[in-house]
Amino acid sequence: MSKNDIPENIVTTKLDQFIGWARSYSLWQYVFGTACCAMEFMSVSSSHYDTDRFGAAMPRYSPRQSDMLMVVGTINHKNAPVLRRIWEQMADPKYVVAVGACAVSGGFYRNYATLQGCDLVIPVDVYIPGCPPRPEMILDGIMALQEKIRKSKHYL
Ligand code: SF4
Repeated sequence: MSKNDIPENIVTTKLDQFIGWARSYSLWQYVFGTACCAMEFMSVSSSHYDTDRFGAAMPRYSPRQSDMLMVVGTINHKNAPVLRRIWEQMADPKYVVAVGACAVSGGFYRNYATLQGCDLVIPVDVYIPGCPPRPEMILDGIMALQEKIRKSKHYL
């Protein structure tokens, strides 16, 4: 059968691409908010920014029901093990977004108490800089994660 034999109302794709597309638009977020970035993050959840467009609007309050961990704010050495435990409780496939300079690198807190980036305790998929990042930057980060998910291998 050639490409021209396929009727116009038929769409073909690969199973792996279909799973990637579906997963990229079905992101259930767990927000690990610890500091001022979390205030800015709240505005992202408003209707103005409409994260429903990306299938990423619904926060879950259990890591077992979430697949997108948003690390929002400063992580110190005391709550780093808690963050790690939450990440471990999430089912695969799971993704991590570091939101803001503190989550990315410790921000301007160069002291004994602050973890110099959440990627020291969990793997991070997308880094969003800024202190705090603008809502548009957070949306851009979500879209970057969607792109990464779509390009990942899903079906073995
Ligand atoms: S990056 Fe800036 S706004 Fe965000 S938690 Fe750190 S100090 Fe606060």
